[in-house]
Amino acid sequence: MQNRAAIAKKKFGQNFLRDEAVLAEIIQSMPDTPYRIAEIGPGLGDLTKYLVDVKSVTAFEVDTDLCKHLEHHFADAIATNALTLRCGDVLEHWKSELLDEPYDLVANLPYYIATNIILKALADPACRNLLVMIQREVAEKFSAAPGERAFGALSVIAQSVGEARIVLHVPPTAFEPAPKVDSAVLLIQKTANRNDAEFEEMLRIAFAQPRKTLYKNLTARYDGKTLDQAYETLGLERSVRPHQLSTSDYHRLYTLLH
Ligand code: SAM
Repeated sequence: MQNRAAIAKKKFGQNFLRDEAVLAEIIQSMPDTPYRIAEIGPGLGDLTKYLVDVKSVTAFEVDTDLCKHLEHHFADAIATNALTLRCGDVLEHWKSELLDEPYDLVANLPYYIATNIILKALADPACRNLLVMIQREVAEKFSAAPGERAFGALSVIAQSVGEARIVLHVPPTAFEPAPKVDSAVLLIQKTANRNDAEFEEMLRIAFAQPRKTLYKNLTARYDGKTLDQAYETLGLERSVRPHQLSTSDYHRLYTLLH
């Protein structure tokens, strides 16, 4: 498979990573753990070939043409169980846990479902760490600190289970075909597990209109009296904006409102 731009299928978000320096940096940034790697979207196997050198890998690829290529190209690794290949949509394989053993997710993700995949991995107790290439803007949302403009529901969800940071910014020229957006490699090291739909629903309401006050946003769901009591207990000004609270403030607020 030589002409990457010609074989790339847009509907599967195929932008193949071809920059060896970026691939090396991803491998160096991998968390030092004994866990298996789950790779979502191995594509032509450019990252996979480095991953199988260091760890056992289970890779999920939706594109049947690429699956055939991978089966052929990685026949030895598959025979020795260094690589397990699962063909099909990863979201269909993924019940509450993607693998039945602890794993680290390392992948150059398909951008059209990247946020959904990260949220599933954060909620998956078998997933211990994530090292993922995604759209830079999305990486900034997951890793933003309180007070920063990008701080939002995704930042709070990520910081509720661990620590998130960007390890590398990657320009479109690192890929073939080049995506229209800048990319970044995001590392999330999990220290806890949480899967609380009600808390996430409160965050959705809290950040629904980021320029409005948090109080105004919350009135869409909570009555004024309950909000006033919670604000008083937490010592919050009514004028505070959603991005100005910390992750622990949001947990305290949730406890008081529920
Ligand atoms: N890892 C390769 C690389 O770095 O060059 C390819 C990355 S490309 C951005 C995303 C890959 O995810 C493609 O191979 C695509 O076919 C695959 N993909 C897209 N949607 C998928 C899904 N729902 N389940 C599994 N793989 C998917």
